[in-house]
Amino acid sequence: MKHWQCFKCGHEVFSNHDPTPINWTDGHKCVFMEVRSMEDRIGRMALRTWDIIGHDVLQVVPMMSKAEVVEVVCDADHMKMYGDDPQAYDHWRSLTFDEQTETVAKAFPFEYYTM
Ligand SMILES: [Zn+2]
Repeated sequence: MKHWQCFKCGHEVFSNHDPTPINWTDGHKCVFMEVRSMEDRIGRMALRTWDIIGHDVLQVVPMMSKAEVVEVVCDADHMKMYGDDPQAYDHWRSLTFDEQTETVAKAFPFEYYTM
């Protein structure tokens, strides 16, 4: 079951399918967006960041282990610059170093990364 919420009024819906927009009599129309867990958002943030920096990094180091990829993604405010989710970034920053690394590592399924 997925969790959806109208980003204008906060109305919540639980459904496996995209909820149809609800038109209320007062003229408000609910527009639903899927509510994702913080862990999911951090993973997406990490993948977006790797999408942007990965190409340049792999030109210098043609093959990287998962641990190295995670290190680069977590390094130097990269996710702040490229992650595109300030709320998830703040949450991630509040975690311990081990938790930060673990959450990001979950987003990368492969043992090695290459061009
Ligand atoms: Zn609404």
